[in-house]
Amino acid sequence: MSQKRLATRIEQAAESATLAIDATAKSMIAEGIDVVSFAAGEPDFPTPDFIVDAAVEAVRDPRNHRYTAAGGLPELRSAVAQVTKRDAGLEVSDGQVVVTNGGKHAIYEALMTLLDEGDEVLIPAPYWVSYPEVVKLAGGVPVAIPTDLSSGFKITPEDVERYCTERTKLFIHVSPSNPTGATYTREESEALAATLDRLGLFVMSDEIYQHLTYSAAGPGERATSLAEVAPPSLIERLVLVNGVSKTFSMTGWRLGWSVAPLDVAKGMVKLQSQLSSNVANVSQRAALAAVRADLGATAYMREAFARRRSAIVSGLAGVPGFEVAWPEGAFYAFPSVAGVIGRRYQGTLVGSSMDLAELLLAEARVAVVPGEAFDAPGYLRLSYALGDQRIVEGISRISDFVAKLES
Ligand code: PLP
Repeated sequence: MSQKRLATRIEQAAESATLAIDATAKSMIAEGIDVVSFAAGEPDFPTPDFIVDAAVEAVRDPRNHRYTAAGGLPELRSAVAQVTKRDAGLEVSDGQVVVTNGGKHAIYEALMTLLDEGDEVLIPAPYWVSYPEVVKLAGGVPVAIPTDLSSGFKITPEDVERYCTERTKLFIHVSPSNPTGATYTREESEALAATLDRLGLFVMSDEIYQHLTYSAAGPGERATSLAEVAPPSLIERLVLVNGVSKTFSMTGWRLGWSVAPLDVAKGMVKLQSQLSSNVANVSQRAALAAVRADLGATAYMREAFARRRSAIVSGLAGVPGFEVAWPEGAFYAFPSVAGVIGRRYQGTLVGSSMDLAELLLAEARVAVVPGEAFDAPGYLRLSYALGDQRIVEGISRISDFVAKLES
């Protein structure tokens, strides 16, 4: 009889560091401590009224009180197929769409459906915390492709070739990126897609921040989808992930989707039918209202984020020892803090970005996520999904704290 209590796969998995820091900041705030939290990974706007109204109506409709098809309500699958044409230039059948409990669930199901034990998965780093953990849960081996501030946190086709081995099955693409905001141009996406196609890799393209992009002057258009530049043979190996969490400020509703070749989509539905069944019908009805509408509500958020992006980047650029690039999408700034590491706060060594994040929370009452959470020590991630005044206040606390560091 095995004496082991927990399975190795769970023992070896890391908890989401971003959720943990966000939870600590939220509990400090609940205790009445005035913390400025740059840790959140979600828009700070309420879900638009017309979406909430659709949900209220759905709650009262007994049809929504029952199990429905595991892959999603037919109307929603069809509406997602239509926005996939609009946003990714891809004509797909409703059966290629799988409605999931958030984009995270779609990522898990896609990787569980595609990976066999030992398959390598290429992940550009810094990366979103869940990718390598989900790859491992699915039996795969995550392989990071490092990038840094000097390359704008973007990989090149040559990087992919260098890290690709005969064991590599899949490449994870995310543009705009969490945590760096890096967003691939159409030309860069085209070159990447051509190489991924030539190498015969499967690709999971996480496009959850697609509608949150900014140009130098302000809010921008949507980011290029890998689907619109992928050769037809790559489309046969391409899984798109998207959802309403970020685009419509609906993180709590848990509603995302994947768009995949039919055999992959069917595999995911099979898994979902055993794992969780249909996504809550009320959330699906709310999402239906969201995806059927135009992107007016998103445009409003994007304008606010563009304004806050200017405030946070110029603020951080003014902190001695910090170096920051302009994030082109999502709502995160990712400064290098290399210039601060090695200094001391009241005798305590700031030996890493993790130390800095801990000290900022304890001493300056500012929550940030250390780069270590994204395989990028030496950086901090600051979400700018918070009010303009709070951004100014938080940056001023960081500046005051850094000014007190001894060399
Ligand atoms: N992909 C990225 C890069 C993210 O940052 C997130 C959320 O933080 C997700 C996917 C998943 O979002 P959700 O599960 O809320 O749809």
